[in-house]
Amino acid sequence: MSVLTNLNNIQKNIQDACKKVNRSSEDINIIGVTKYVTIDRARELLDAGITDLGENRAEELIYKYKELDDQANYHFIGTLQSRKVKDIINIVTSIHSLDRLSIAKQINNRSNKIIDCFVQVNVSEEETKHGIEIKKLNTFIDQLAEYEKVRVVGLMTMAPDITDKNEIRIIFRQLAELRDEIKNRNLKHAPCNYLSMGMSNDYEIAIEEGATHIRIGSKLVGN
Ligand SMILES: *Cc1c(COP(=O)(O)O)cnc(C)c1O
Repeated sequence: MSVLTNLNNIQKNIQDACKKVNRSSEDINIIGVTKYVTIDRARELLDAGITDLGENRAEELIYKYKELDDQANYHFIGTLQSRKVKDIINIVTSIHSLDRLSIAKQINNRSNKIIDCFVQVNVSEEETKHGIEIKKLNTFIDQLAEYEKVRVVGLMTMAPDITDKNEIRIIFRQLAELRDEIKNRNLKHAPCNYLSMGMSNDYEIAIEEGATHIRIGSKLVGN
């Protein structure tokens, strides 16, 4: 399937999901996840009009950046090792997986500008998942205030790989509630307006629950 065909289908689904809950599809940012695909396929994605790409490994992000250059915005969506922050920090538009102070510290030391960060929350509390535990979230947000290059623009989560749509919905709803709590604190370093949630199998549910950034790989570019 061409990327354009896939994108048209996804956009149709986005519109339907938005309509259900009275949202504007203009508020949904699609991040095309290119981690599975070649440069040519990534280029096809750019040609289809997607300007935001997501990668979950530092090496691959740097490679795609070198090949595709400044035609795209790069979002780091995977587990980040703090020693690799310096390699990507001046390439990326945002980091969706901030969950440790060691990363914040590296961002602060190595970035030459303020970086939009999503704090990753392990809402489902699966042991295999990265992200900060819910009960530690508020303290973590407070601690981030001291790193002036870190701006918490939102929260991110990954739903468990299950088929129970209702359970997935509950996870997304919890993240939205956590986002609201932080947003309502009016913290200068953490405006927390956004929700990065929803992937190929659950983006419609995520949108119904308030997602502003959906990260789509397989259904968009294949795998
Ligand atoms: C791979 C990945 C995605 C995209 O997954 P698909 O199910 O292929 O859409 C989104 N977010 C993260 C963090 C990923 O690692």
